[in-house]
Amino acid sequence: MKRTNKIQIKSSAYIANLPKDFNRPTDAVGQRLLKEYGALFVARGGAIPPKTVFFKSEREVSAYQASLSKSKENIGGFTVELQTAAVKALKKAIADAQQNYLTITPRGADAAKRNYADTVMLWASRVNPALTHWVERGNLQEAEASKIRLLSPFDQVSEIFKLESKGMFCSKDLSKSIIYSVAPPGTSQHLSMLALDVNEHDDSRARDVLAEHGWFQTVVSDLPHFTFLGVSENQLSGLGLKKVSDDERVFWLPNL
Ligand SMILES: [Zn+2]
Repeated sequence: MKRTNKIQIKSSAYIANLPKDFNRPTDAVGQRLLKEYGALFVARGGAIPPKTVFFKSEREVSAYQASLSKSKENIGGFTVELQTAAVKALKKAIADAQQNYLTITPRGADAAKRNYADTVMLWASRVNPALTHWVERGNLQEAEASKIRLLSPFDQVSEIFKLESKGMFCSKDLSKSIIYSVAPPGTSQHLSMLALDVNEHDDSRARDVLAEHGWFQTVVSDLPHFTFLGVSENQLSGLGLKKVSDDERVFWLPNL
């Protein structure tokens, strides 16, 4: 009995730390995405996380991004645009890294902010070849694949999850779920301007410096991806996040 209570308290710590008017998903797809990508929603330190797991259009994304305090910085030859609190912390991390002869640089022009159309394009870049592959392999009927191609990007998500539940994975190398490869349209942490893909992600010293400035890894197996949570590591469990270790990496996920 006591143990049950304890678990309930633990999982509600995350829920309790969500934004006040957060739109908690009730469907299976939304709940899965909350579990996998949801660390972002309890970000602190001046970060304003979205109030939804799913943005459904460019209009919704633009309205949210327009409401944020954001800043641009030229880092490693690329313009990095993020929420102001996230940029400030990143600049401090870069300065700290320099003192230790390390660099922290963005992986490309789309390493920070993305818009809805970017997420649709990235999603299609995994879904279309995967559908072709599974048809060619004989696991999927062409008619079924065509039906999925014609759906809106939003409606494709649950259909792709169904295929994956039958072993037809849709990540780039077709070995794991697409969600560890690209985010479903409208769900990327990059839309929030609190995420950055970092070149030096393999270097544990660079990861440590980022963590000291509130930047953590929150999407299992998306190795270059960091999320601004705006707190120190010892505060993360208080926000209802749990530590998941994978291959010497540490990821922080909602304790749900
Ligand atoms: Zn990323």
